[in-house]
Amino acid sequence: VTGPIAFCCPRCHTTLAATPTGHACASCTTAYDALAGVPVLVPDADLAAIDLRETGGHLPTYDCAGMGIPSVDAALARGDRILELGAGLDSHRAENVVRTDAFVYGTDHLDLVADAHALPFAAGSFDFVFSLAVFEHLHSPWLAAKEIARVLRPGGSCYTLAAFQQPLHGYPDHYFNATESGLRRLFEDDFEVQEAGPSRFCPHRQSLEPGLRMREMARELRDDATAPWRTRWRARRLDRALMTAGQQFLQLADDMTRRPVGYESWRRIAPAVEVVAVRRDAR
Ligand SMILES: [Zn+2]
Repeated sequence: VTGPIAFCCPRCHTTLAATPTGHACASCTTAYDALAGVPVLVPDADLAAIDLRETGGHLPTYDCAGMGIPSVDAALARGDRILELGAGLDSHRAENVVRTDAFVYGTDHLDLVADAHALPFAAGSFDFVFSLAVFEHLHSPWLAAKEIARVLRPGGSCYTLAAFQQPLHGYPDHYFNATESGLRRLFEDDFEVQEAGPSRFCPHRQSLEPGLRMREMARELRDDATAPWRTRWRARRLDRALMTAGQQFLQLADDMTRRPVGYESWRRIAPAVEVVAVRRDAR
């Protein structure tokens, strides 16, 4: 670490100056506010819309150092200059880790508000960039991949985990689930992709969602007194079978993440995919 990482204007990439109420760009004259002491480095930000301290506090608190994700752990161990996108309520506080999110969920867990499509940092500011369950919430994930490439130094790396088989979720919206190939393609222009595949770092329970929806339907039919007795009998049998199958699945899921037994099936139903990629030298 060579001192704090400078903020720059997401519009024109000029280094920002601190003002009594936030930051300002001397070049394009854009002013940036703060929200409860957290700099909001998004042009024309609607502070009320990004303030989720009262209404959006359903995220779990976590520590990015406690996830067991190898590339994240390695970057922390090296003392890399690290950028986290969608940090939410990440409690990991360190000088070399810059935690950003599009929303303020709690002021103790966030260093600044930023938009992943237009990051407020100069080119080459970081050695490592990571995001967990963020890319499905980006309206233009290819722009975010370009921005990650820009703020990384050549040879720096990134880790991205994104939803694959997950139902609609999250605030403010959910745009694109990614296949392994789709996530890989987002990074191929500017990165050497080192690893891509289904992720172990997302709750396996997510893969049970289709079964849970079938159980809902079965229970509605089971409890429908107007349905024919045969329909209700079938629905009760289906409900029980799905419950048993779900319990068995969760016990098997860990084994399925290991090659080779079950791995090809797991790839098709994994709740999330991930990619590790290294920033290529500019040509
Ligand atoms: Zn500017």
